[in-house]
Amino acid sequence: MHEDRARSLNSTSARPGPVLYWMDRDMRLKDNWALLHARALAGPSPLLIAYNLVPSFLNGGKRQLAFKRDALKELERDARALGIPFILLVDEKGTNTPKLITACVERYGIGTVVTDFSPLRIQRAWKTEIADTLPCPLIEVDAHNIVPAWVTSPKVEFAAYTIRPKIHTLLPTYCVEFPDLAAPETDMDVPMVDWKLIDARLEGWTDTIRFVPGEKAATEALHTFLNERLPRYGSDRNDALADGQSGLSPYLHYGMLSAQRIALLVVEEVQKPIEMILSKSRNKAKVEEGKTLALIDHAGAFLEELIVRRELSDNFCLYNPAYDSYEGFPDWAKRSFNAHRNDERAYTYSVEQFEKGQTHDPLWNAAQYEMVTSGKMHGYMRMYWAKKILEWTRDPETAMEIAITLNDRYELDGRDPNGYAGIAWSIGGTHDRAWFTRPIFGQVRFMARSGADKKFDTDAYIAKWSPRLL
Ligand SMILES: Cc1cc2nc3c(=O)[nH]c(=O)nc-3n(C[C@H](O)[C@H](O)[C@H](O)COP(=O)(O)OP(=O)(O)OC[C@H]3O[C@@H](n4cnc5c(N)ncnc54)[C@H](O)[C@@H]3O)c2cc1C
Repeated sequence: MHEDRARSLNSTSARPGPVLYWMDRDMRLKDNWALLHARALAGPSPLLIAYNLVPSFLNGGKRQLAFKRDALKELERDARALGIPFILLVDEKGTNTPKLITACVERYGIGTVVTDFSPLRIQRAWKTEIADTLPCPLIEVDAHNIVPAWVTSPKVEFAAYTIRPKIHTLLPTYCVEFPDLAAPETDMDVPMVDWKLIDARLEGWTDTIRFVPGEKAATEALHTFLNERLPRYGSDRNDALADGQSGLSPYLHYGMLSAQRIALLVVEEVQKPIEMILSKSRNKAKVEEGKTLALIDHAGAFLEELIVRRELSDNFCLYNPAYDSYEGFPDWAKRSFNAHRNDERAYTYSVEQFEKGQTHDPLWNAAQYEMVTSGKMHGYMRMYWAKKILEWTRDPETAMEIAITLNDRYELDGRDPNGYAGIAWSIGGTHDRAWFTRPIFGQVRFMARSGADKKFDTDAYIAKWSPRLL
């Protein structure tokens, strides 16, 4: 592992004992730099994994809890099969994680704690609280980004065009193959997780989502995408009816899949036809060439989202402390909002009306319904959805609050830097430029229904996701 991927969060000296991987953001055993680093530090000592489950983390509900619970059961089974004991810590209110980790360190005589990285406030606060009191080293590893967030940039980036060259320059150093995880032998007596309490909480819970949780399901979803949808990603991703996106965001959000693995496989997909062309005679190769060039375009469009846009969101949350509120918007946007505070709104809705899909706009209601029932709104519709919340609330502060509440309550990929950055982009002009002034929006980019009508059959989308059940 590149040494810059890990950083010490305290200066406590190392002591002998097992190594604990405090798994938080990245719920996977494969392709996980934090786990690999913990393994390397353990040497012949035992290696343990502890996951801190906060049942209502950032206002998530049973949908998110059930998704996590099933994935964690798979993780426990697979970790044990590798010889790594798995511990589940339950932090009811999200305020007890530092104490739970400290107790775990004491109970098992842990020598070093390795944890993964998240730029979100609550997870950073846990680490700050624990760092100085822990009796052993606490090491943070960025297992989520391909280029570690603190290596990419030491400051908040202005937009995709400022972070892109930095990431592109560093990719050859960091986007490399993962070593195998060879777990050390352990005879430690760690009890199996008692799932009864979590199961009881979810008793009778049913959902309409179409995503199967866990690392295995994530890998299957990735291979289906590579085979079936990557070759048309660039042309179909903005068509909300074409099933043209990867559908991987729930897995990426929970870290059930490594973005670096996805990038390595996408590059491999492109290399295969290139090698075929090189090995064929000139005439035959010409036929393949067009297809291959198209595939390169689609792969390029996908990697831009997967790497540049995703890692820009982590940069935003890492360096902008107000990433989830009006205060975090760029100054030009705040200035122009202030000039438009008293603009008349043709419609204003409460959070309950938005939640139930009870606006005057069937397209908006359909998008809301898609999110509530499937757990994932189409990417193009997310922009429209958030911009209309701005248009139909009394001020941008309220719009931001409503969009985050609903996004985090219903999206399987919610409560993620991508969500906070995406909403701040739509409502507050973050990572965007100033446009010409218009009512309510000031200089923030507007989005009209006619734009969606040009991209896809909006009537068919409305028919598909009509909010009849809300
Ligand atoms: C208002 C709004 C809210 C959003 N909320 C979330 C959210 O809660 N969670 C979330 O993961 N994404 C969010 N996004 C970003 C984006 O819409 C989703 O990541 C994408 O639609 C997920 O579907 P996919 O995995 O099929 O995407 P694909 O198009 O297949 O992209 C692959 C991956 O690239 C990343 N990606 C794609 N688009 C973006 C983007 N614009 N910004 C950052 N990363 C991106 C994601 O990790 C995604 O899984 C939001 C965007 C907006 C405008």
